Amino acid sequence: MTNTSPEGGQVILVDHPLVQHKLTLMRRTDTAVVQFRQLAREIALLLAYEVTRDLPLTTVEIETPVAPTKAPTIDGKKLCLVSILRAGNGLLDGMLDLMPSARVGHIGIYRDPETLVAVEYYYKVPVDLASRRVVVVDPMLATGNSAVAAIHKLKDDGAEQLKFACLLASPEGIAQMQEVHPDVPIITAAIDERLNDHGYIVPGLGDAGDRLYGTK
Ligand code: URA
Repeated sequence: MTNTSPEGGQVILVDHPLVQHKLTLMRRTDTAVVQFRQLAREIALLLAYEVTRDLPLTTVEIETPVAPTKAPTIDGKKLCLVSILRAGNGLLDGMLDLMPSARVGHIGIYRDPETLVAVEYYYKVPVDLASRRVVVVDPMLATGNSAVAAIHKLKDDGAEQLKFACLLASPEGIAQMQEVHPDVPIITAAIDERLNDHGYIVPGLGDAGDRLYGTK
């Protein structure tokens, strides 16, 4: 895990060999939908491990079959995952494998193909966001417009402790997030070279939603 903070905000690059290997498989054009979906789930689980690294612990008294002891257990705010539809759903199951009792919210945002501006069309999240650690998931941090808009909305709704998890981030997307939401750490499996004229990450992996759901 590499922790880079070029402009103040925290960027955690998960450079674990398993994550990097699986991501290379996801990037390949010849990876089929079923494998792509499975790999997204597996990487999400591994990202969740880093996302939850700083969860606070407390000590409880327990009895093992051999002796009473004091042992650590997770304390503090409960978790909420928020998926940016539709590609974010590809990361939900892997995250939930590791955090099965997390609540789940959904934000529907699409990018206007001409302007690349984020347009919201759906919003449903737990009512008690202020009392939860919120993890926003979207495989691609490209322009950053969707992530920034989603986080604005969640903050307006009371969320105070947020993280953003993705598979790939562009330098442009990271810069946008760090400018607008420097308090939100970004956890990513890779930082790619740049965006192309259509707002796609280069070299990237293509359209994450289409590759997850076989819509192209
Ligand atoms: N969304 C995608 O699915 N892919 C990109 O490269 C950028 C945004």
